[in-house]
Amino acid sequence: MLSVLELFRIGIGPSSSHTLGPIRIGKRFLEDLKQQALLERTARVAVELQGSLAFTGKGHATPKAVTLGLFGLDPETLDPDEADRIVARVAAERKVSLLGAHEVAFDPEKDIVFAYDVIPELHPNGMKLSAFDAGGATLFEETYYSTGGGFIATAKQLRIPAPKDQIATGRTVPFPFASAAELLGHCAHENKSIEDIVHANEDAMRTRAETDARLDRVASVMMACIERGLTREGTLPGSLQVKRRAPAIWNRMKAQPHANDPERLFDWLNVYAMAVNEENAAGGKVVTAPTNGAAGILPAVLKHYCLSGEDPVRDARRFLLTAGGIGLLYKQRASISGAEMGCQGEVGVACSMAGAGLAAVWGASPQQIANAAEIGMEHNLGLTCDPVGGLVQIPCIERNAVGAVKAVNAARLALHSTDPSKVSLDQVIETMRQTGLDMSSKYKETSQGGLAVNVVEC
Ligand code: SF4
Repeated sequence: MLSVLELFRIGIGPSSSHTLGPIRIGKRFLEDLKQQALLERTARVAVELQGSLAFTGKGHATPKAVTLGLFGLDPETLDPDEADRIVARVAAERKVSLLGAHEVAFDPEKDIVFAYDVIPELHPNGMKLSAFDAGGATLFEETYYSTGGGFIATAKQLRIPAPKDQIATGRTVPFPFASAAELLGHCAHENKSIEDIVHANEDAMRTRAETDARLDRVASVMMACIERGLTREGTLPGSLQVKRRAPAIWNRMKAQPHANDPERLFDWLNVYAMAVNEENAAGGKVVTAPTNGAAGILPAVLKHYCLSGEDPVRDARRFLLTAGGIGLLYKQRASISGAEMGCQGEVGVACSMAGAGLAAVWGASPQQIANAAEIGMEHNLGLTCDPVGGLVQIPCIERNAVGAVKAVNAARLALHSTDPSKVSLDQVIETMRQTGLDMSSKYKETSQGGLAVNVVEC
């Protein structure tokens, strides 16, 4: 059983699977090396990016992430500007300080290889790291996988998944669930909300105060990201020369403070979501929700609907815990990786999570919350991942704006429901999984199909 907090990781953009995951893999590799007392003997390291990491790694800043990971840096505390300085220094000096303590030769141009021809065995995002001694002999070599949302795994971990009731510490959670039916069963049996069930499980992992403090921090980083994105103007990095649009929309909205046309709702949700995803595209600090590419949907809904009531702290926690509980179902039963599921696994899952979280804040029953989550996914099924130029910009930024609006509609529809949906949440999750498996790899974060091949880069 995973923690909901693992779905909300604080880090830098533009991609959780191609940036955040590789940073974490670099650090994990060095820790494995250190554990075997091989760190000091290492004279050179090399990295092979496989599958989707090779195809869209350049646009998704994977080489930068690899370098930062070899320093052993923590994505949460990493300052985006400092990260750029470190990467520039490594490129100039062709040296990296492993875990910040042991300097070795590392030329990103030569030592990061884009292995387009290697099809990774267990997941589309494979990353092989090798350490060599001064004589060039291999000291240690391991392939890791970036499985979406910043999660990483070794081959062994992917082959033998942990039992559903066990958490990393070996302790068990009081209400294990691996399906929506089980989650709703706990709610009915205990007469508790989804939020209560998830909270109780989190209590098995840390104190309640620690969980709540972490949820509050997640909400505050999300809001800080919106604030930055609303004011930072300019052009996003990369060949597309995409102009940031959120500040201009925001300025127009501020110039009309008394506008009250009903469509204004779209403007609020759009501008908040776009602010986050433009920050993400610029390599800024964001929260995976559940991924970087889909990071704008939950913050937009949270800001517009959950922070102005009588008890905004309670509402924000309720929103995140409920959304997180739904996100765990997708992570455990299918995948939240665009390279495995297409964009339905990123924006679709975020829409489903946000719809559920908002329904909870609006007082929905557990069944209505599940209905909201089901609706949020049902109308994203088949959504492909086809980022133009391999950048997390087109269609990603607008797609988050549209996803936020859709999430609110899903919650609204669910609140009118009095019965379980004809399509259950478990059925729609399984449908997403099967659709993802059937989807051609052209549409799964490889930039080899869809908009990526029909939009001419200039
Ligand atoms: S198209 Fe969707 S899945 Fe692909 S990079 Fe963009 S947000 Fe992520």
